[in-house]
Amino acid sequence: MNTVDNFNFNNKRALIRVDFNVPLDKKTFAVTDDTRIKAAVPTIKKILADGGAVVLMSHLGRPLKKLKEDGTVDYEKHSLKHVVKRTSELLGVDVKFATDCVSDDAFNLSASLKMGEVLLLENLRFYKEEEKGNEEFAKKLSAHGNFYVNDAFGTAHRAHASTAVIAQFFPGAKTFGYVMANEIKNADKVMKQAQKPFTAIMGGAKVSDKILIIENMIDKADYILIGGGMAYTFFKAMGGQIGNSLVEEDKLDLAKQLLEKAKAKGCQMLLPADSIIADKFDNDAQLSSCENFEIPQGWMGLDLGKKAIYDFREVILKSKTILWNGPMGVFEMSNFANGTIEIAKAIVEATSKGAFSLIGGGDSAAAVNQFNMADKVSYVSTGGGALLEYFEGKELPGIVAVIG
Ligand code: AMP
Repeated sequence: MNTVDNFNFNNKRALIRVDFNVPLDKKTFAVTDDTRIKAAVPTIKKILADGGAVVLMSHLGRPLKKLKEDGTVDYEKHSLKHVVKRTSELLGVDVKFATDCVSDDAFNLSASLKMGEVLLLENLRFYKEEEKGNEEFAKKLSAHGNFYVNDAFGTAHRAHASTAVIAQFFPGAKTFGYVMANEIKNADKVMKQAQKPFTAIMGGAKVSDKILIIENMIDKADYILIGGGMAYTFFKAMGGQIGNSLVEEDKLDLAKQLLEKAKAKGCQMLLPADSIIADKFDNDAQLSSCENFEIPQGWMGLDLGKKAIYDFREVILKSKTILWNGPMGVFEMSNFANGTIEIAKAIVEATSKGAFSLIGGGDSAAAVNQFNMADKVSYVSTGGGALLEYFEGKELPGIVAVIG
């Protein structure tokens, strides 16, 4: 794959689409988690080390959608000026800032940038043209540099002006940064080069969010383990009593079809045998356990039971490739975190025996971080929606635009 390593940036002004969509403190606006800024540092440093200059562009939140109570845009809350200090510290370079991404002032700043210098542009999403993928806006932005680098995997599934549309204005002068390259390389170890047995572990609240990925995995995986709230829709579809567990009534037929499709394709789709059940959605609820076909009325399944953990563990330990997306229970509450922890542990054990394990999706990534297991699995993706769409088998516009 083509990356910044394939180019020399001496005397080049690289326009890099980064993902600086970081959480800020509500009062002080200080960066509370700098993971995404840190991730972009190697790409920026490579270009500076070659003797180039860097113009950074990003979005932060959804300023045109999350308006203030009076209906106006909250510029302060969504300003990228708040990340300048942390970016400067991490790079060891004083980062300049343009208070608008396409003003004359911004173009003067980028044009007068000396080699070795870094400029950050104000939030792209202050303009509706960004998310609309407006070509004029993309063309304007393209004047900030003479080389385009896309290093924002998290938005690669969107055909926005700065992520996909802009690439056409840099024929022969566009490539991926290390964040993008790393995400694609690791995702492809699952999507294109999975060693068998390949197990996909799917969890989370709703089956409706995961239909396409489960369908695609039926074609690729040897085993699919279904956990979390979505499992109960499958049990109900098979005629089980699921008490007050989470269910999507309008997805019962679909759940049946997925089970049938898996069977027809020789993919073993495993549902959890039992659950930890509770009499209310609360950490202090009364607890019990039972098989998933007979959850009593007034009770709900909120975590994997013992047998389910045992069965899932067996499959995980014999797997050579593991994809995990979505928690196995309501892991945010300590009494229902055990299933997710035990599955994470089994993945860690399989990894230590040579399996390749990829953890993707916000909640499962949060879970392995929370349990301090992130460095014991092969790769934790930061991709979120982009990663899911990749696993659904879709082409991501941000990738296609750079390759094409
Ligand atoms: P998702 O965003 O679809 O990956 O779902 C993640 C959410 O699913 C987490 O907030 C979990 O608490 C929730 N979840 C997992 N298992 C259950 C369950 N058995 N019942 C209700 N919610 C669940």
